[in-house]
Amino acid sequence: MAETTSGRSEEEFQDLLRRLELALEASQIGVWQHNVNEQELLWDQQMHKLYGTGRHNRRVSSNVWFKALHPEDHESAINDFQIALEGKGFYNSQFRIILPSGEVRHLRSRAHYYEDADGAPSFIGAEWDVTADVLLNRELTSQKAIAEARAVALEQSRARIEHAADHDYLTGLPNRRYFDRRLAELRNDASIETLAVLHIDLVGFKEINDKWGHAAGDATLQSAAARVSGAITANDIVARIGGDEFVAALVNVGNAERLEAIVNDIFWRLRREVRFGNEMLKIGASIGVAMSEAGSTGNLLAESDVALFQAKKLGRNRVEFFTPKLQSDLQAERQLADELRLAPVLCQIEPFYQIQVDARSRRIVGLEALARWRHPERGLLSPIAFLKVADEYGLTAEIDVAVLKRALADRSDWVSQGLLPPRIAVNISGRRLADPDLIEGLRALRMPRNAIAFELVETIFLDAPDDQVLANIAGIKKMGIDIEIDDFGSGHASLIGLVTLKPKRLKIDRQLVTAVTVSDEQRRLVGSIVDIARALNVEVVAEGVETEEHARILAELGCDELQGYAIGYPALGSEVAALLKAAFVMDKNRPTGGARATGSARRRSSRS
Ligand code: C2E
Ligand code: CA
Ligand code: CA
Repeated sequence: MAETTSGRSEEEFQDLLRRLELALEASQIGVWQHNVNEQELLWDQQMHKLYGTGRHNRRVSSNVWFKALHPEDHESAINDFQIALEGKGFYNSQFRIILPSGEVRHLRSRAHYYEDADGAPSFIGAEWDVTADVLLNRELTSQKAIAEARAVALEQSRARIEHAADHDYLTGLPNRRYFDRRLAELRNDASIETLAVLHIDLVGFKEINDKWGHAAGDATLQSAAARVSGAITANDIVARIGGDEFVAALVNVGNAERLEAIVNDIFWRLRREVRFGNEMLKIGASIGVAMSEAGSTGNLLAESDVALFQAKKLGRNRVEFFTPKLQSDLQAERQLADELRLAPVLCQIEPFYQIQVDARSRRIVGLEALARWRHPERGLLSPIAFLKVADEYGLTAEIDVAVLKRALADRSDWVSQGLLPPRIAVNISGRRLADPDLIEGLRALRMPRNAIAFELVETIFLDAPDDQVLANIAGIKKMGIDIEIDDFGSGHASLIGLVTLKPKRLKIDRQLVTAVTVSDEQRRLVGSIVDIARALNVEVVAEGVETEEHARILAELGCDELQGYAIGYPALGSEVAALLKAAFVMDKNRPTGGARATGSARRRSSRS
């Protein structure tokens, strides 16, 4: 250390030294000197304490220091020292030492270069324990890292939640929520000139799901999503908005021709079969399209939906474009459907009756109840005016029920008037025939046995009747209700239907009947139907019998019963009651019996 400066008394100097020692001891700072040439250190007491040497010699070999160094810090500690030595300047280092006890201690060391009286390069410096600081620092650093990692994880899960809220997990496509938002943005984007919206409904998806299971359904949806995505640009957007429903918004397609080309591309991509394992699944799509120019205010999504509705109505697997006429037609249709929904409740649905007679005796053997809608403004409406809409909106069953109930009420009315009403045939729609609750509903009506027949159209049996339909038909027969096949021969001949369903009778379609007066071939055809029916023990009714000549030929061909304008027009219940009364009176006056639908009775029934 440097010589004491003169000018201070020895006493003062000793006092200063003591105070310095006390201060150093209190601060636990060790003081060292290093004569570089001699590799010798001078350590004070505090240095020994720091290094845990247990020795108290002031002179220490620099080896002692070097050996105490943590091996991993050798290099940096020596390096720091070399830099200070070469620069003849400050030494500033931090390193770990290992105490004899094994404890690791972090030391900070600072020193100053000087040359001693002999000119030997030397350092004098101080060293202190910074273990607590280092540990604290390390703890803080790790806490910070943990906090940062947590923030990252939180951000990730927030993004995931947001993505899930906006996307469909199965296909990865955006969902309705996201689509609505994006579409609104696109509509407000002034840089967009044309915007087209496609509403896509898969055809055959339900069948795939039912037949091959949900995995196949999922695969179908995924491939449909990929196909549509593959057909549009990055500016466009496609979303899954329902089970098998997708919507797409196409930006700036330009003109109608280009739009049509893109839509057709999508349509044909969707019609390709989907591979599922070893199976090739049949799939298709109905697509409704609406397009807007800049500034138009129409609701594209709603318009594309109208177009889709039309595509489905026209038989699915097709593309339809929105037009204002489509919209107004649909509106009118919807209004009609709304009114029709209420019609049975308001007792506006009533049956007209058309008589059926025995082909030989012309006695009345049956009545067909035909639905009429007494519309408050439009007057009496025939089924042509409302059955199609009823079918599209699923209202046919209600109409069938209303007709059946009114027919039963009329019948008991006639019975209470002392008349003997013949069996009444009512028409039953395919949808109702598949209703699992049908039999229960019919039981509640407490129908008399052998009073009612149900007319089913041939096509119901053609599309492979399911178990429910077959069970219902068995239930109907069991209740004493006849099964009749209506419009026989109008669809594809259904001998299978005849054999499996064993109806009580079949009604030969009007088209076949009409031609019997002009064509030999048609006569033979009707004759063969009669033969087949005979063989199967099924009665034959000819409908659409418009002239006496028809009636005569059909009777000759072996038809059991006749129905048509030549026999009687569909008529009000009250008119039919009068007809029955007349026949009844005639029956009573004739010992052989046989109520005949006479010419006068025919004239009395009103044409509808
Ligand atoms: P459909 O079951 O074949 O009924 C016979 C239709 O032919 C009736 O028409 C009847 O008025 C008409 N018609 C009767 N005789 C002749 C004839 O000699 N010549 C001609 N050209 N036509 C004749 P309507 O009453 O307009 O019924 C049409 C169709 O509506 C029915 O055909 C039936 O499929 C359906 N329908 C009628 N009422 C109901 C019902 O209550 N429920 C269901 N689901 N369908 C019904
Ligand atoms: Ca019928
Ligand atoms: Ca018919």
